[in-house]
Amino acid sequence: MAPMDAPQITEARRPGVDQIPALVDELRRTFHTGRTRPLAWRREQLRRLAQMMSEREEIFIEALREDLGRPRFESWIAETGFVPNEIAHVSKRLARWTKPKKVPTPLALQPGKSRIVREPLGVVLIVGPWNYPIQLVLSPLVGAIAAGNCAVLKPSELAPASSAALAEWVPKYMDPACVRVVEGGVPETQTLLDQRFDHIFYTGGGTVARIVMQAASKHLTPVTLELGGKSPCIVDRDADVEVAARRIVWGKFLNAGQTCVAPDYVLVHQDVEKPLEDMLRETIHQFYGDDPQKSPDYSRIINARHHARLSALLADGTAVIGGVTDPADRYIAPTVLRDVDPSSRVMQDEIFGPILPVLPVRDVQEAVDFVYDRPKPLALYVFTRNAAVARHVLESTSSGGACVNDVVAHLGVPELPFGGVGDSGMGAYHGRLSFETFSHRKAVLEKGTRVDPPLRYPPYDAAKEKWARKLV
Ligand code: NAD
Repeated sequence: MAPMDAPQITEARRPGVDQIPALVDELRRTFHTGRTRPLAWRREQLRRLAQMMSEREEIFIEALREDLGRPRFESWIAETGFVPNEIAHVSKRLARWTKPKKVPTPLALQPGKSRIVREPLGVVLIVGPWNYPIQLVLSPLVGAIAAGNCAVLKPSELAPASSAALAEWVPKYMDPACVRVVEGGVPETQTLLDQRFDHIFYTGGGTVARIVMQAASKHLTPVTLELGGKSPCIVDRDADVEVAARRIVWGKFLNAGQTCVAPDYVLVHQDVEKPLEDMLRETIHQFYGDDPQKSPDYSRIINARHHARLSALLADGTAVIGGVTDPADRYIAPTVLRDVDPSSRVMQDEIFGPILPVLPVRDVQEAVDFVYDRPKPLALYVFTRNAAVARHVLESTSSGGACVNDVVAHLGVPELPFGGVGDSGMGAYHGRLSFETFSHRKAVLEKGTRVDPPLRYPPYDAAKEKWARKLV
């Protein structure tokens, strides 16, 4: 069916809280018809999703500009370009992944054939956050569809333009009997969470994650929780400070710091603290000019509440770079803080904004100990030209993901799992793992009936036991 032929979803047909139970029920019944199971349906849905991203790219980019003041290059790299890449990767391999995998059958169960069959879970719920509001709903959807599920998407109400764009275009491209968008905030999400789903995929903060997990426990629904945390960035004495500064500035101030894997703070070897600060200043100037507020390449804070929260954090150190705020424009300058007390607020919760505390350490071990004493982060970055130092840091810390001499970029490798550990989340996705997340591995043993040795049946005796022990 071409997008044009799809049913028009009008305002009146947009589901409200009271329509949610029926909507989920409809999806459940559709799933039971087997509509989503054939490889051809999955491929076609993925193709249409890619088509939507290409034909409506400008609409999504504009929505992201409205929500976050985001430059188009960053929206392309993180959302409208990211999702089609993921689709291409998955589509190419899907036939192989869905093939049942034969496994050997023990002698005692011969004659028989055993295989692992990937089956879809059923109806899944995907709840997204506001910071990458398109990618973080559609990228899990790629996995859900690839695995043959029906899905409900709940974009974040805090990115209203992106949420509206998804609600308008997803039903026009995707099979509306199988993929639905529910817009709204807490009441809608709560009502969704009251329904029985076969998997819940949540991206956002830890507080709501606990609400999600509690709701899921009522139905014993498995969850994937993609959370955040304070991702540290360690810069060692022998790091290439110029490259480190460039990559840190890019990864930190991308989307004005509202990135779950942004370097949250820097632990720098005291010998290179000053050179790093100088390079950070120079790089920020190179990237965003004399006045970053006038730069077309610099995003805004999502809303007034987050702007006020971030502005208050500026008091927790000395702003050696930036520090300027403009609430009317939801602007906070790219800021580097020195003289930060590790027990201050800015070092407690995830910053999620363009403020970079830089704390000096005597050596790498002090940095490793600092990280080890805190909750496991979503990402950890180490800049060093010494392979032994990199190895030591990676082996003595735990984090969802990590980069050596880079930040954020590990998300661009489709073969790498993306997910947290401990406080930064549970489960992972991207590429094959997205398919696995939304699939059940069903164990199937197939036997004929021509031969039926009595060995395992009562009455048992010593001879039977002797033979059974030999055969297993
Ligand atoms: P958010 O406030 O948009 O909330 C996320 C979702 O939860 C939304 O869809 C929202 O409607 C829903 N929600 C909010 N309150 C609720 C409630 N009381 N009950 C039920 N549902 C509710 O986003 P956020 O939590 O501010 O997101 C920011 C966090 O997400 C950061 O910690 C960030 O690190 C993390 N994050 C993680 C990833 C990742 O992939 N691991 C990606 C982006 C963001």
